[in-house]
Amino acid sequence: MHALNISGLKKVYKGGVEALKGVDLQVEQGDFFALLGPNGAGKSTTIGIISSLVNATQGKVNVFDFDLDSQKAAAKACIGLVPQEFNFNQFETLQQIVINQAGYYGVPRSEAKQRAEKYLKQLELWDKRNARARELSGGMKRRLMIARALMHEPKMLILDEPTAGVDIEIRRAMWTFLREINEQGITIILTTHYLEEAEMLCRHIAIIDKGRIVENTSMKSLLAKL
Ligand code: ADP
Ligand code: ADP
Repeated sequence: MHALNISGLKKVYKGGVEALKGVDLQVEQGDFFALLGPNGAGKSTTIGIISSLVNATQGKVNVFDFDLDSQKAAAKACIGLVPQEFNFNQFETLQQIVINQAGYYGVPRSEAKQRAEKYLKQLELWDKRNARARELSGGMKRRLMIARALMHEPKMLILDEPTAGVDIEIRRAMWTFLREINEQGITIILTTHYLEEAEMLCRHIAIIDKGRIVENTSMKSLLAKL
């Protein structure tokens, strides 16, 4: 079973921008996968479609064998999304934010509280659990987004430019954390426009440019070519 299986994916935005021009992509279960490409290549659009935030114009997407059209809820439950923009309520506390998220997925409250402690501790945010999100630094907000995405214990984590605007020390700590949860079995897909970040973390890489996949290979063979 693939964690992700995309075929013939096209997206034309209102106004006529062809963001995706027929994307095929497979990601194996347990993989650490990078989608690399310059600004405007179609990375966010691809991730948006996989996470059901953006409607595809054409094509087929399966998430752990669930069809995104006909089995959307089951597909969504497999995915934890870490979007690029901070989209939590800045006036809520960290604990409220992550516990509410679990609530959207039907996790019982007592279980949600336990998970909140687990993930906030893992992301070194437990001391800040009663702070409002607006009081956090940029790096802490990024980590909060990751903790929130894990609250329904998805099989796959998708991160859109996870370390954008994060300083090097916190970036390294985030890389270590992502490696750990991948080793525990979570499939990870991240977008980045830094080859270095993909190189540090990922086993497979696809390069997207102007809405098309132009390379799809193991990191090893890509590096051997460069
Ligand atoms: P990225 O850094 O991934 O290239 P952008 O900064 O271009 O993203 O876009 C930020 C947000 O604005 C995204 O959610 C994207 O969907 C949206 N967006 C990008 N380009 C346009 C556009 N031409 N018209 C409307 N919305 C756009
Ligand atoms: P990336 O994430 O690789 O930077 P995007 O998927 O954000 O690329 O954008 C791909 C193309 O689609 C760009 O030309 C962008 O301007 C356009 N685009 C993205 N979001 C929208 C939107 N909501 N409306 C119109 N055009 C968009």
